[in-house]
Amino acid sequence: MQQLDILAFGAHPDDVELGCAGTILAAVAEGKKVGIIDLTKGELGTRGTVAIRLKEAQEASKILGVAIRENVGMADGFFKNDQEHQLAIIECIRKFQPTIVLCNAPEDRHPDHGRAASLIADACFLAGLSKIQTSHQGVAQAAWRPANVFHYIQSRNLLPSFVVDISAHMDKKMESILAHSSQFYDPTSTEPNTFISGNSFLEFVKGRAKELGQQIGVDYAEGFISNKLIGVKSFDGIIQNKT
Ligand SMILES: [Zn+2]
Repeated sequence: MQQLDILAFGAHPDDVELGCAGTILAAVAEGKKVGIIDLTKGELGTRGTVAIRLKEAQEASKILGVAIRENVGMADGFFKNDQEHQLAIIECIRKFQPTIVLCNAPEDRHPDHGRAASLIADACFLAGLSKIQTSHQGVAQAAWRPANVFHYIQSRNLLPSFVVDISAHMDKKMESILAHSSQFYDPTSTEPNTFISGNSFLEFVKGRAKELGQQIGVDYAEGFISNKLIGVKSFDGIIQNKT
């Protein structure tokens, strides 16, 4: 069993890169163990194929320096927040025992994102109930509840509970996004254009990070929503913002 500090879930194979790659890169640089679990293979995506997207996700994982990346193979567009799906996520949480879970935005343009957010948040709570029995490779799992679930912000301009300075990691974040080359801007591609395939979408991703960074007096940042109140031990970790 490989215990992780942070486990990031995404409904689709590029959600984690778009929403929180900078924060993951910053955590890995600090020596934290981080993993990614994609809920679906993104099989309904207009561009690319399941095989191409899996390969791209592995490529992006190398850039991010994560310890594991798995895909639980739920149905793109149609997975539900029900007992069957919750048990699958509970098994993942108990397997990796993360302190912090990152997942999709509570509501977003793509309906899978909000559903994934509820599914992951509910499963994180339920994973702590010992009377819910799960096993991994035939071995019974112990109950485990992550301390915090943070929702990364995606398309909708939601108000974050806190923002993370990713200035030192912005270039690598963009590199990890572009590893999903079937999905994003590629002037040589002959595939149909989509909401995310134009250069303007990449500019939007940078613009969002710039805008959040600007508000805390740094170059680039990623925003997160917490349903629980966040506590700090001291003022030392807070970025001095004299803007
Ligand atoms: Zn998505």
